[in-house]
Amino acid sequence: MTIALTGELLIGSQSKRGEGAAFQSIDAASQQAIAQPVFHGALQGDVEKACRIADEAFDSYRALAAEQRAQFLDDCAARVEALGDQLIERAMAESGLPRARLEGERARTANQLRMFATLVRSGDALDARIEPALPERQPPRTDLRFWRIGVGPVAVFGASNFPLAFSVAGGDTASALAAGCPVVVKAHPAHPGTSELVGRAIQQAVAAAGLPEGVFSLLFDAGHEVGAALVQHPAIRAVGFTGSRAGGLALVKLAAARPEPIPVYAEMSSVNPNLLLPGALAARGEALAREFAASATLGCGQFCTNPGLMLGLAGAEFDAFAANAAREFGAVNAGVMLTGGILRAYEKGVERLAQHANVTTLARGAAAPGRAQSALFKVGARELLADATIGEEVFGPSSVLVECADEAELRAVLRGIEGQLTITLHMEAADADLVRTLLPLIERKAGRVLANGFPTGVEVCDAMVHGGPFPATSDVRSTSVGTAAIERFLRPVCYQNLADSLLPDALRDGNPLAIKRRFAGKPESVN
Ligand code: NAP
Repeated sequence: MTIALTGELLIGSQSKRGEGAAFQSIDAASQQAIAQPVFHGALQGDVEKACRIADEAFDSYRALAAEQRAQFLDDCAARVEALGDQLIERAMAESGLPRARLEGERARTANQLRMFATLVRSGDALDARIEPALPERQPPRTDLRFWRIGVGPVAVFGASNFPLAFSVAGGDTASALAAGCPVVVKAHPAHPGTSELVGRAIQQAVAAAGLPEGVFSLLFDAGHEVGAALVQHPAIRAVGFTGSRAGGLALVKLAAARPEPIPVYAEMSSVNPNLLLPGALAARGEALAREFAASATLGCGQFCTNPGLMLGLAGAEFDAFAANAAREFGAVNAGVMLTGGILRAYEKGVERLAQHANVTTLARGAAAPGRAQSALFKVGARELLADATIGEEVFGPSSVLVECADEAELRAVLRGIEGQLTITLHMEAADADLVRTLLPLIERKAGRVLANGFPTGVEVCDAMVHGGPFPATSDVRSTSVGTAAIERFLRPVCYQNLADSLLPDALRDGNPLAIKRRFAGKPESVN
């Protein structure tokens, strides 16, 4: 069944035509407006209502039995899938991303919601701990019980580069809903139609489950006002964001300046250094160059985990790698970028590197009007250390090779770089001793350390970390992918000496929910 898009705001169970500035979706490939529908931005009153009903919904939503909350998440997944081709075609037009990529992203989005449903059913995220009373101890100790509850309503900013998996029903929304937090989404203006389709699916899931309407709202805005008002609204207790460093930092500042500051989990910028270690370059330099070029230009380079900095030791093998990589980059077709703004930012970034006196342009891919032309650059480690801007993220199909005179320079570069989502080691067994000495440095800089592979794929699972020190994220303790993403939206609560009949089921004597708990400092046996 095709859904007629209306361009309306989804505020709880209502669909309402916004009274703010009108805007249209832009077809990424043609840069022409998509005629239907016209979207209207929200006004302050809409933000106020969405946040108020989210706050009103919080207590009953968080008190739902685990099975009910899990079924709601499963239903969200099924309803996103049921949007079928209409969702894929709208997302293709709005993002310029190809069908196969978006079908994969839809599967990832649904699996992510189901993964959080499984986590909710397990009770593991509650992290229940019981320290029984010790009346004989001097001084005596009273009964203490610990678990985690949702922080309250969460504002989510959909990302432009993953219109499904990091957007309206993406990882931030799924983890917040799993934590028992209502969600108010600020749709990314690059894919409003995609956002409306997914938003309507979630709105229907809320109604079908009989949940309070404020569990989910979706707001549009072509500017910054709605996002800023959301972050500043007293009912909002945390923020999830993926996008630019400037955008993320602006929200961090707003949140910190509130009378009651709140955390902003912003995933912003990373150049994902790859270390081409001598053994690997000698054994398979040519294949590495091919795989690197494919990874750096995949999806027109619009991944936060794009390999943007390739570090190697000077010598014939590094030179050969550079020549092979240059040949590969030179053969890359010009690509459609997500938005005109992102294309302009990319062109500016590439121009900055091309004009830099100490940076050599090794290759440019094919050019076409309105398309991104891939770019490969080279710089010496000393020059990079002297001017850190050379190592800043250029979002798109661009990468910089960094030639280090020796291991000491390689270490100096690792010490000098900013925080990263990922650092990758291309290595053979012969490189292990060197790697052992580099790992302490690398661990200080990255959220994920890979050996032999490229970082663009981010598995959604228990063991994933998609986070890292600033500016990769605004909070180094968090991940926005994987089950640990739920921790951003939970807070610990301790009950001291509360009667069993007043405790939540998760903490009652006899463990009625049969969940994993710690009891008196050890895992409790579950019957
Ligand atoms: P963006 O400009 O940071 O925007 C992301 C979202 O935040 C949008 O909804 C935007 O609203 C909102 N926003 C931005 N600044 C704001 C502010 N000061 N106050 C309130 N809301 C604000 O990111 P983008 O549009 O996706 O892409 C721009 C650049 O971000 C790219 O060129 C790239 O460098 C970077 N980026 C990085 C990643 C990554 O994963 N590291 C992903 C995507 C993009 P409006 O659009 O209405 O302003």
